[in-house]
Amino acid sequence: MRHADVIVIGAGIVGAACAHVLAGRGLHVLVLDARLGGATAAGMGHLVVMDDNPAELALSQASLALWHAWGPRMTADQPGCAYTNCGTLWLAANDAEMAGAEEKAQRLQRHGLPCELLDAATLRRLEPALRPGLRGALKVSGDSVVYAPNAAQWLLQQAPRQIRFEQAEACRIEGGRVQLVDGSWREAQAVVLAAGIHATRLCPELPIRPKKGHLLITDRYPGVVRHQLVELGYISNAHQTDGTSVAFNLQPRSTGQLLLGSSRQFDTTDPAIDQDVLARMLRRALDYMPGLAGLNAIRTWTGFRATTPDSLPIIGRHPTRDQLWLAVGHEGLGVTTAPATAELLAAQLTGGPLPLDPAPFAAQRFSLEGLAA
Ligand SMILES: Cc1cc2nc3c(=O)[nH]c(=O)nc-3n(C[C@H](O)[C@H](O)[C@H](O)COP(=O)(O)OP(=O)(O)OC[C@H]3O[C@@H](n4cnc5c(N)ncnc54)[C@H](O)[C@@H]3O)c2cc1C
Repeated sequence: MRHADVIVIGAGIVGAACAHVLAGRGLHVLVLDARLGGATAAGMGHLVVMDDNPAELALSQASLALWHAWGPRMTADQPGCAYTNCGTLWLAANDAEMAGAEEKAQRLQRHGLPCELLDAATLRRLEPALRPGLRGALKVSGDSVVYAPNAAQWLLQQAPRQIRFEQAEACRIEGGRVQLVDGSWREAQAVVLAAGIHATRLCPELPIRPKKGHLLITDRYPGVVRHQLVELGYISNAHQTDGTSVAFNLQPRSTGQLLLGSSRQFDTTDPAIDQDVLARMLRRALDYMPGLAGLNAIRTWTGFRATTPDSLPIIGRHPTRDQLWLAVGHEGLGVTTAPATAELLAAQLTGGPLPLDPAPFAAQRFSLEGLAA
């Protein structure tokens, strides 16, 4: 018996966006989620245009355009989605980083993305809590912030066609059939795997590795920070493929709290707070904003990003497994890129016009032997 047109495994931000967009195309969607805990509940929710390569820029730019449409609607319906258009300030500590900011500005402007370079005095006026002596910043106005767990819930609840949800763990995919741990099967024409870091349990051939991150949130200090603040060094740290790195990344939440990141660590799946890494992250933050030392932190936690060898997500049909579609490997950018991921996947699955070039995201870019399992 067929239970839906499409089964989506995973109700994080990527699975929820896929279900929302597929339902918008008139399909009956069944979402299965085991509540295993995922990156969506652990991340920062910074909606940010990233431009390290053309594919990343295309995916994040297309996604931001959709977030600008979805964000205000979801927050009007459900204030807890907390979508705010605060913009990002990419901070330059010295002349070399300012030169990097200028190059980044030119690249973004070539793609029609509004941004402006700020000198040291303007930066200080906009964010007086930053330490004096920073060289300047690049302000990217369209970047925003959302509370991703609530946004995922909204996407499932406010879909154009009702989405069915079942709390259940999938343990096997066979064609269009999904087996649950209780032994029962759910059947559809297509299955979308959006299980984040857990995707390798169902598809061990996928080249996905976990990358651990630490976050800290403070008590409420409204107005201390107005923009998402990121050091320019974040970009090189974010793309390291080994070792541990930290970078200054601070987000003002609509509650008045400050959310502080970020760290990146390979080769561990231990969710415990690593005191050394947290201390490194805090020292880095204090270097940019010494006043943080006087604020009250109320919680620290960790999460795991699902990384791929080239740091781009895998979106599209599985090369060898019939009826299986992939929306995985979104690393540290999956909240941002969920909307365009969903549009691309839905266009491929239903045969509509493609919103962007699918080739950089195709699973075929990795070794086919690995994916043939
Ligand atoms: C510390 C940190 C900071 C981050 N900051 C940002 C940021 O600022 N901006 C940004 O864009 N991104 C950020 N990210 C990345 C972002 O959070 C992820 O890319 C995104 O949440 C991935 O969403 P997902 O839906 O693919 O996976 P997940 O959120 O992990 O969801 C997967 C879901 O699948 C379910 N599942 C798994 N296996 C099964 C199964 N067998 N059966 C049924 N259900 C199953 C799980 O229960 C889970 O709900 C950050 C991540 C971390 C860890």
